[in-house]
Amino acid sequence: MTNETGEIRSTQRTQLNLVTKNNHGTARLTPAPPQGELVDSPLFPDAAKRELANPVQRKNLHHAMSTIRAKRTRVTAELENWEELRSAGEAIKNRVGRHLDDYLVQLEENLTKAGTTVHWARDAKEANEIIVGLVKGKLGPEDLPEVVKVKSMVTQEIDMNEALEANGVAAWETDLAELIVQMGHDRPSHILVPAIHRNRSEVREIFLEEMGNYGKAAPEDLDTEPKNLAAASRAHLREKFMRAHVAISGANFAVAETGTLCVVESEGNGRMCLTLADTLISVVGIEKIVPTFADLEVFLQLLPRSSTAERMNPYTSLWTGPREGDGPQEMHVVLIDNGRTDVLADEVGREALRCIRCSACINVCPVYEKVGGHAYGSVYPGPIGAVLTPQLRSMKNPVDRSLPFASSLCGACNDVCPVKIPLMELLIHERHKAVEAKKQRKSYNVHFEPIAMKATSVMFGNGKLWGAALGAETKVGGKVLGRFFDHIGPIPGPLNRWTGARDVPMVPTQSFRAWWDEREKNNGNKAKGDQK
Ligand code: SF4
Repeated sequence: MTNETGEIRSTQRTQLNLVTKNNHGTARLTPAPPQGELVDSPLFPDAAKRELANPVQRKNLHHAMSTIRAKRTRVTAELENWEELRSAGEAIKNRVGRHLDDYLVQLEENLTKAGTTVHWARDAKEANEIIVGLVKGKLGPEDLPEVVKVKSMVTQEIDMNEALEANGVAAWETDLAELIVQMGHDRPSHILVPAIHRNRSEVREIFLEEMGNYGKAAPEDLDTEPKNLAAASRAHLREKFMRAHVAISGANFAVAETGTLCVVESEGNGRMCLTLADTLISVVGIEKIVPTFADLEVFLQLLPRSSTAERMNPYTSLWTGPREGDGPQEMHVVLIDNGRTDVLADEVGREALRCIRCSACINVCPVYEKVGGHAYGSVYPGPIGAVLTPQLRSMKNPVDRSLPFASSLCGACNDVCPVKIPLMELLIHERHKAVEAKKQRKSYNVHFEPIAMKATSVMFGNGKLWGAALGAETKVGGKVLGRFFDHIGPIPGPLNRWTGARDVPMVPTQSFRAWWDEREKNNGNKAKGDQK
């Protein structure tokens, strides 16, 4: 094993050097993210237009979303007490929110008692400094500057891979979908299935083109069979698993009562990271707490059925400090706030902190299905992203202010959320906050929308004015314009923001009130408008 590992190291060192020289003209250790902005920019409406112009992605998303939705409906219907489980999940997480300060102290005590070192990070910068320091402290001069990673949303939220890369350490994704995204110089577009926007042929091309640059190459005769694509990734990752000294994970749940962390996954790559490396660093958002070990019973039923539509997760790993001769010999937990206490301070918005990242709300969202995850400019897409991102990052950024409007408010997300987060109500709450934040800007005084709203409210409050406005609208709009056009297309000027993205039907030639009056005059017989 020593020889084999040593050989791998020297081969890989050469490859890493090669990569540093040849990787798209930049001195990087890992594949560079895509050119152009997918995170933080542009605004959702502009990004959505960009994504809608990608028919392959739309087809891939439609196929994947319909399959996942149908499976989830089937497996959740199997449990007679599904609604009770949802209520239990909601109640447990609400209790965590009410007593978060106490539970955090309890978690720290029990993690420490179990032999895990606890670090606290107020924000992404602090978290990354701690992680980079820990990793660098563990790598000797002969070691490759690299770590292996379990898939984790919070490490994406803080741009941990980028921080490690900037400090000369390669962070290798080991989840198959995350590997596809990383090798493809891409960004994840879904929280559970990050490469959902890619099809098999695209994955094959990415593997053939990229794997050899960063380790074991994909076989030349690789086809598009899922089992062969998985085998190529397994062979590629095995090298990295075997030599890694440090692994980094997140945690789905952190049990305050016992100081236990829990990761659920489908492939087993996570368990390899959690057991093979000498040092394990777990990066955990402070909202991940559950009070007692018994509480896991609820979430380990809710999560798999809502996310992958499985009855239970194929791999559930629990770890409570290091054990001599078994698994990592050193464990660290970095507990991250990064905006979460601000979310907690908002009595309405805090309901989003119950989220267990199952992605059920994303999978039923008609807006997500059309535009995909890149349009949201955030690592959290879909309804939960539209609610959580502006809360975590504040309403200062126009991209974040645009997110609560990325929803049709159809309510499907409310129905599927396993912890009963009222996403629709939260979206409306965030919309209100976005408008209030906009009002703080000087230019808002001459903004078209509030003036139009004020004028409309005057008309709504006066029957005569409203009737006159409708009459004018049907005469000018319906009778004159209706002769030439069958719908209203994009209108120049401020109205373009509304008409530019919608097919607006032509104004009718008669208002409902006028039609009704005419019908009454004719003793309930047809009015003119009936022929339309
Ligand atoms: S908001 Fe609810 S449905 Fe959406 S990811 Fe979170 S737990 Fe799942």
